[in-house]
Amino acid sequence: MVIEDVFLLQYNLLKMARLLLPGLILLGCGALLLNQISTLSYQYLQLLSWLPYLLAGMSLILAVSFNQGRLFLSSINLSALFLLIQTDLQTSLNNPATFVLFSIISLWFPLQQLLIAFYPERGFSWRWAAPRTAIILSGYLLLGLLYQQGVLTSWIVDLPMGLMEQAWSDGLLSQWAMWLFLLVTAFQLVIVYFRATLADAALLTATLGIAVMLLLFHKPYISVVSSSLILMLILVTILFNSYSMAFIDELTGLPGRRALENALNSAGRHYTLAMVDVDHFKKFNDTYGHDVGDQVLRMVASQMKKAARGASVFRYGGEEFTLVFRGKSEAEAFPVAEQVREAVAGYPMHLRDKDRPTDEKQGRRQRNSGQDSDTVQVCISLGLCEKTTEHKDSQAVIKQADESLYKAKQQGRNRTVATHMEANPRPRKAASA
Ligand code: GH3
Ligand code: MG
Ligand code: MG
Repeated sequence: MVIEDVFLLQYNLLKMARLLLPGLILLGCGALLLNQISTLSYQYLQLLSWLPYLLAGMSLILAVSFNQGRLFLSSINLSALFLLIQTDLQTSLNNPATFVLFSIISLWFPLQQLLIAFYPERGFSWRWAAPRTAIILSGYLLLGLLYQQGVLTSWIVDLPMGLMEQAWSDGLLSQWAMWLFLLVTAFQLVIVYFRATLADAALLTATLGIAVMLLLFHKPYISVVSSSLILMLILVTILFNSYSMAFIDELTGLPGRRALENALNSAGRHYTLAMVDVDHFKKFNDTYGHDVGDQVLRMVASQMKKAARGASVFRYGGEEFTLVFRGKSEAEAFPVAEQVREAVAGYPMHLRDKDRPTDEKQGRRQRNSGQDSDTVQVCISLGLCEKTTEHKDSQAVIKQADESLYKAKQQGRNRTVATHMEANPRPRKAASA
């Protein structure tokens, strides 16, 4: 294996661990909660058993509203399983019909999880979701009906050994179910590794959580606790994803225009803002292509984030960025703006193929491995403007910072121009000393 591959593997594994961590913590919490649950009074326990329905309803509505099809399907799979358990699986597994039902749902659930994991994330539309929902529900509905009709009892004699024998002596999961859960978990792990999305990590946690639930099915309230926790994780994932979609710019990972507007609304009366624009950016696109243009934007974003101490960095749009210095004057912000400018200008941008890693650390490691080619210089120009009483609102500050940025471009680019200290672009403190 080449050295870069080792780093890439290490990096992806770390990323995967980070994605899976919330779910694993949640499963740990579930184990603790389960031990405490018997101390709750009956009324509380009754109330608690409604929680999964509430969470399922919420996550279904949010998944539809926020366009997340796969998390919608997973919520359907979980809530249908929970509903079936609550209606038909509250008697002892010594009852043949109950045992058959338990055995079959412990295959149906992971199978559906596998299908959901394989679907690409294409947002949500009823045309996409309706047939897939129908597939998931048909299994549970059919099993529920057969159980109610008393048909399942006779199936016990035909049940294969793999479903009769338990995988562990003190757990209730059958051998086949255990193998299927292991297989699905392995597939989902691969998918989390390659796709690296929170949704896939949540889907994997759901599979693991339900495997544990079925294994320890004899524990009182285990279905309520595990379904609630998993649905909570799905709900939080939906919210987190929609937050990211609305506020985080996908290319650079920086907060975008909407986040900037929020930040300015809550920035108070005293702040300084810098409008930042990449110099001659069109040339990069024209010379090296759009992909390299995107690499440049990622590099600029990561350098800015690193150097902008005490400021928040946003992607304003295109090749324009914004820095917000809360509670700072132009004089205080100026040296930081200059550091940011120097950090970008001083970074040797190595052009390679389109596989160049998006991550800064990984990029450096690869460069150290000696596989370099073309180096290009990227510069930025900045226009600073402090909010004063003359500005009606943040738009007026942005407009004026933009004018200063325009001056920086006219003066030859790769420089910072401050609106209120134009004549002497040095920090006011230093000038008056
Ligand atoms: P100046 O120094 O005056 O700013 O020159 P410039 O070439 O940077 O300015 P101009 O506004 O003419 O060019 C901006 C270009 O940025 C035009 C557009 O094709 C490109 N661009 C905008 N957004 C993106 C993006 O997300 N990715 C890439 N690759 N290019 C983008
Ligand atoms: Mg521009
Ligand atoms: Mg530009």
